[in-house]
Amino acid sequence: MIHISSQFDSGNIEVVAAASPDAVRLRIVKDAAADFFQWFHFRVSGARGVKLALRIENAGAASYPKGWEGYRAVASTDRVNWRRVDTDYDGGALTIRHTPDADAVWFAYFAPYSLDRHEDLVARAQARGTGRLDRLGATVEGRDLDMLTFGSGPKPLWVIGRQHPGESMCGWFMEGLVDRLLDPHDPVARAIMARATLRVVPNMNPDGVFRGHLRTNATGANLNREWRDPSPTNSPEVFHVVRRMEQTGIAMCLDVHGDEALPYNFIAGYEGVPNVSEAHLARLTRYKGELARLTPDFQVEHGYPKPAPGQGNLTTSTGSPRQHLPVRGDDPGDAVQGRRQQPDAGGRLVARAQREARRKLPGGDAGDDRRLGGRAVITVWGLKNCDTCRKARAWLDGRAVPHTFKDVRADGLTAPEVRAWLDAVGADALVNRRGTTWRGLDDAAQAKADDPATVVDLLVANPALVKRPVFVGADGAIVVGFGKAEQARVEALS
Ligand SMILES: [Zn+2]
Repeated sequence: MIHISSQFDSGNIEVVAAASPDAVRLRIVKDAAADFFQWFHFRVSGARGVKLALRIENAGAASYPKGWEGYRAVASTDRVNWRRVDTDYDGGALTIRHTPDADAVWFAYFAPYSLDRHEDLVARAQARGTGRLDRLGATVEGRDLDMLTFGSGPKPLWVIGRQHPGESMCGWFMEGLVDRLLDPHDPVARAIMARATLRVVPNMNPDGVFRGHLRTNATGANLNREWRDPSPTNSPEVFHVVRRMEQTGIAMCLDVHGDEALPYNFIAGYEGVPNVSEAHLARLTRYKGELARLTPDFQVEHGYPKPAPGQGNLTTSTGSPRQHLPVRGDDPGDAVQGRRQQPDAGGRLVARAQREARRKLPGGDAGDDRRLGGRAVITVWGLKNCDTCRKARAWLDGRAVPHTFKDVRADGLTAPEVRAWLDAVGADALVNRRGTTWRGLDDAAQAKADDPATVVDLLVANPALVKRPVFVGADGAIVVGFGKAEQARVEALS
């Protein structure tokens, strides 16, 4: 005799009849106070060797019936590894056929990411010491709304996810992001944390996740339609996040979603926002292009149709923070002219690549003015008579990479420049302990290189101690040295 249950974290199913294992009748339960449904997650006990046919009778009336076409449910016996199982959709019902090789088996719409796993994630982040955990407020049902903060740089970045609880892939996305930020050996994460303060809300909808909802919170509010006027009682999850965003400002916010039917990573931007400027759209295009260039996981061909200008949905997250808030680091021209970002047409994987805050980093003011012929200008720091520096410049010339040269001795280094370089690559990579300058230092001076409190002054006073050359991209990215490995990275700076 089999038994079917869903009374657990992120469970959802209603059993109509389960007397015959080969003709089990099920229904997905709607979100509270709403008509959305598609997420299911349940356990079948007493199932070892039993030929199961699980028929979800109301699948055709679900929120995204197109998502069932070619779809296969996932199953697990250890709740760690999930595999696809035989699934048919006849236009009305969805039937899962499976013969388990264990006593109990769990079935779900996608690999579940439960509220408990979210708790594990935020606990791990704070326990490692590099993530800070803030409780922004309470959900409708009194659960904690968590925010993790990484880094201390000047640029305020936000990543939020799981507004829609049925999109469990967001949980996995957030876990990957957070674990990477927690990795002390990840040079990209270190560089980001030196330049930005990254605030991450891994789970915007704990109530919905726990309840096994598809799309809403406990009051039936679709959180990604609440951003224009979030309510402290009906959508406190958005309300608390917006309030914190007002305090920090936003240079960029990535709002992570999943899609039922499109098996691609893509960005639905803010093209439909009224009054969006050409410059903003160009930045979005550039951001997407850079992402596609940097990772084969991202692409720009497949996604949602771009809404016509002015036709964007004003209640989604995408531009709304901007609509409410002054953005720190934004240029005054935008505020004066009232050019404000409005939300996009409500995408699933949605990103806002907002105006970049102008940074005071080595290489000068980052920005469009430092571009030549569409390519960013690289600043090469070194010594005029250094052979490696000469070779590097000739190499850049040969590739027509726009660059300028600065002499660390003649032009001099400043403490903020050196600090930014150290933040990006660390003292081991930046201090040359093999040259004549190093050998000329007494023991006391050499000891300064091992102390974060004194190494900046040491390098400013002895600029020839800096390993050469240092390449600085227009966006502040840094490459030190000129070996084969560095060459590929230098080319990517432009
Ligand atoms: Zn979504």
